[in-house]
Amino acid sequence: MAVGVQLTPRQSESREEYETFTRVSIAPYADTWDRAERLPEEFLSDFAARGYLGSTVPKEYGGTELDPITFGLFNEELAQGCSSVRSLVTVHGMVSYAIARWGTEQQKGHWLPQLAQGAAIGAFALTEPGAGSDVKEIKTTAQRTEGGFVLNGEKRWITFGQRADVYLLFARLDGQPTAFLVERDTLGLEVSPVVGILGTRASLLAELNLVDCLVPRNALLSRPGFGLNTVAASALELGRYSVAWGCVGIAQACLDSSLDYADRRETFGTLLRNRQLVQRMVADMAAGAAAARLLCQQAGWLRQAGDPRSIQATWLAKYFASVTAFRSATDAVQVHGAHGCGSEYPVQRYLRDAKVMEIIEGSTEIQQTTIAESAFHTRLIGRTNGRADAPTTMGG
Ligand SMILES: Cc1cc2nc3c(=O)[nH]c(=O)nc-3n(C[C@H](O)[C@H](O)[C@H](O)COP(=O)(O)OP(=O)(O)OC[C@H]3O[C@@H](n4cnc5c(N)ncnc54)[C@H](O)[C@@H]3O)c2cc1C
Repeated sequence: MAVGVQLTPRQSESREEYETFTRVSIAPYADTWDRAERLPEEFLSDFAARGYLGSTVPKEYGGTELDPITFGLFNEELAQGCSSVRSLVTVHGMVSYAIARWGTEQQKGHWLPQLAQGAAIGAFALTEPGAGSDVKEIKTTAQRTEGGFVLNGEKRWITFGQRADVYLLFARLDGQPTAFLVERDTLGLEVSPVVGILGTRASLLAELNLVDCLVPRNALLSRPGFGLNTVAASALELGRYSVAWGCVGIAQACLDSSLDYADRRETFGTLLRNRQLVQRMVADMAAGAAAARLLCQQAGWLRQAGDPRSIQATWLAKYFASVTAFRSATDAVQVHGAHGCGSEYPVQRYLRDAKVMEIIEGSTEIQQTTIAESAFHTRLIGRTNGRADAPTTMGG
């Protein structure tokens, strides 16, 4: 990792652990998982046994409750190996976080220990056929009934939806967006796999169809009407933060692959590394990864400080990091030439995964308009109050 704000010894140790785990247990298999369009159960068991599914679960419920910077480092390292693994951490983390923050004692006591141990996998079900960026257009309905609610509607593109045991699902109750925890084996819930997706192919995407799906009263998370602005907004903010760091991982992997390749490949009697046009691509990748990482760190320490500017800082980080990851991936394929298009090198996977990063958790265009509106409104976006805001270490 490039020099940034200084990590605590504990954070450095954790980063090393994640780096080793990714190098040994993820990177060598990621292309196979991508082709198979799934993560193997043995991998998921190992991942869970290490406590890696509890990263956003409070310690009192058996989680590891990583501080924001350590959580970011975790996402960066995982994404250097496989963005589908990182996407599991993102959506499972969002569901765990939402329950910890908005759940009743009963919901927390029931779900959080299972989510922390990986005995249950969580998925986030917001998008619908007619509602993506414009989430207020969701049409799924919830109607009160004796003992609970009846849900009807459709959800699309649900990451780890094929594998999930519980869905944080959004529906309209009395016309108001409301969050529900829907268990996988609920009668009336049909889960269908989405196959052939462009990127994060091993992330077991699913469509959900809800036909008179009866859920109990305690499936309601938070209050009616608090679904989008409160529950989904805070979960998506965490998701955006996780994805931003994941994009740093993709950008770094593109740089590393390109350095290795340009150091070995000769054309016209000299190594690619000596070609200035190749050096331009390498320089842009290096600068992009370093700058994206710094933006993520800024978002992280504002998040850690509980500073509301972390929201804007996360928009900036996600926007810049995802655009950087995609540009780095196109350059990495270019540096590799035909080898970059084949299955022997992972750069074509990075390119497919990076394009997905520009669509999820707020597309590039939505980030651009949000950032621009905020810039016009406050004139302060991206600024901090200088050194006083930047701790020399980042907690943990
Ligand atoms: C691999 C993958 C995994 C996903 N996982 C999940 C998941 O786990 N849970 C979940 O709920 N959803 C998930 N999604 C869905 C994702 O959140 C949506 O795709 C995303 O919100 C964008 O919505 P959309 O695809 O409907 O695009 P649209 O909103 O229809 O946008 C289409 C295009 O128009 C642009 N656009 C839209 N509005 C504007 C505007 N106002 N100004 C300028 N441009 C605009 C967009 O940027 C985009 O380029 C996933 C999607 C993918 C591809």
